[in-house]
Amino acid sequence: MVYLTGAGPGAKDLLTIKALRVIQNADVIIYDRLANPDILKEAKDGCEFIYVGKADSNHTIPQEEINELIYQSALKYDEVVRLKGGDPLVFGRGGEEALYLKQRGIKFEFIPGVTSAIAVPEYAGIPVTHRGITVSFRVVTGHEATKEKSQIPWENYKSDDTIIFLMGLHRLEFIVEKLLEIGKPNNFPIAVISRGTWEDEQTVIGTLDNIAQKAKNLPTPALIVVGKVVKLHEELNWFEKRNNL
Ligand code: SAH
Repeated sequence: MVYLTGAGPGAKDLLTIKALRVIQNADVIIYDRLANPDILKEAKDGCEFIYVGKADSNHTIPQEEINELIYQSALKYDEVVRLKGGDPLVFGRGGEEALYLKQRGIKFEFIPGVTSAIAVPEYAGIPVTHRGITVSFRVVTGHEATKEKSQIPWENYKSDDTIIFLMGLHRLEFIVEKLLEIGKPNNFPIAVISRGTWEDEQTVIGTLDNIAQKAKNLPTPALIVVGKVVKLHEELNWFEKRNNL
């Protein structure tokens, strides 16, 4: 059995009870860079750990090889945990891994995780929806936002949805350019949240015309939130202020 498991956004205690249970029983854990390595301390003695760390835009191990590694582990062991940052199916390629296993007759289960897309803004005091401000949100990959062939339907983003870009920090200038192009004003609120839910989380609040400058040197992982809900950070920023209230 392979459990395609979400590790949550960073803070270890945002792991689900179900994930913890399968981790404690695992014979092997195949984990990513974004999963908190402290979680591995919960494994039983003798559990094998395999790191398949990926950089944001630069997969160090090709996905096909990871698929094969999970498959081979499933032939060798009873309980395999594939541990991924956030939720396994939110830009996590968990679906591809599941298909690969299914086609080879291996049983799998998905174990949802707390996705960074929602939890990281939440830790920064930015609700992704808020009555009277926005009724919907979108989660978009910034990775696709390359100038040459962006698959992002920018024209659809004129609405008041909150937009959350994952994997977008390196493309922040381009994202800003596109948002201005579809008519968002220069002073439209935008936030970049770095290392959300970790002890050293940092939020930078700005507007479309100054964010690229302000967020330039932030450490990754980081995500971008665009929308009027960003203004609530001023009132609701609870986590980064936890020690000096
Ligand atoms: N499956 C993951 C997302 C994988 S894509 C999930 O559900 O959370 C990886 C991207 O997620 C990163 O480039 C970054 O944009 C975002 N991300 C993940 N963890 C983060 C964190 N702790 N703080 C800020 N962004 C994070």
